[in-house]
Amino acid sequence: MPADLGDKYERCEIVQRQDYSDDLWSIRLRPEEPFHFRPGQYATLGVELSGKVLERPYSIVSAPEEPDLEFFIEKIPGGALTPHLHPLGVGSTLLMRRRPKGVFLKSGLDSTRVHLFVATVTGIAPFASMLRHLLLAEEPVAPPKKIILLQGASFSSEFGYSQEMLALAADKGWFEYVPTISRPWGDPGWNGETGRAEDVLRKYADRAGVSPGQGMVYLCGHPGMIATSRAVMSRSGLTESEILEEQYWPEGKEPTGDS
Ligand SMILES: Cc1cc2nc3c(=O)[nH]c(=O)nc-3n(C[C@H](O)[C@H](O)[C@H](O)COP(=O)(O)OP(=O)(O)OC[C@H]3O[C@@H](n4cnc5c(N)ncnc54)[C@H](O)[C@@H]3O)c2cc1C
Repeated sequence: MPADLGDKYERCEIVQRQDYSDDLWSIRLRPEEPFHFRPGQYATLGVELSGKVLERPYSIVSAPEEPDLEFFIEKIPGGALTPHLHPLGVGSTLLMRRRPKGVFLKSGLDSTRVHLFVATVTGIAPFASMLRHLLLAEEPVAPPKKIILLQGASFSSEFGYSQEMLALAADKGWFEYVPTISRPWGDPGWNGETGRAEDVLRKYADRAGVSPGQGMVYLCGHPGMIATSRAVMSRSGLTESEILEEQYWPEGKEPTGDS
């Protein structure tokens, strides 16, 4: 590790990897020391290139109660970092900043409200962490009245966590999982919801009773989904504080790398 990095980073080993498609995969990292975080926070992962650290934020999928840290990553063609992360298999190491960041789900979930989680592809990460936390917390956490997770993708092969989410929905009456695809013509076996998450959002919000004072909406991932969903839910009367967001990249920005 370059000498001038101080103790900002630790080197973590990849102890597990699962691929879902050519450009979507999960890794589990074993930190050198316990890494304390809240569900909804992110870690900063990086690799050393020419003596410098190239790093990006990644939401943590695992719950704080799990010993390893899990991430769900999409390889961005032409991206600066992800083409370097993608080849790393079990036994490889990468760098992680020692401190988590983020305030997305800071206040926890109000158990008296209906919570609508809306994600595009890898944006499911903070919600998976929160759901796992509800199941694993040593001090039992009261589950909210209802949680609906609406996940949008182009194709069903992008739903990396669908088995886990469907199993949870089958087991817990307070949880519903709705995956929706925007390109059903390229996915002939699909018989679930179709359309972008933001297109079907209002239908599920109304059905579950996500209304001012009764519901909360959390948006994570694609900036376009976030902007449209925010507008839709604002029109239904939700206040600023009832719509929270974690945007993964700035709207309209193109990949900066050349690899
Ligand atoms: C708080 C936070 C949490 C994040 N969590 C995750 C996560 O859990 N998993 C994950 O894969 N990424 C996540 N990201 C995005 C991640 O930090 C990187 O931006 C992404 O991996 C691309 O990095 P790169 O260096 O390869 O691309 P760059 O060279 O930095 O190019 C970035 C450009 O690629 C495009 N881009 C970035 N991400 C995507 C995407 N997912 N789909 C389509 N285009 C994209 C945008 O145009 C963006 O401007 C998160 C971002 C933030 C801010």
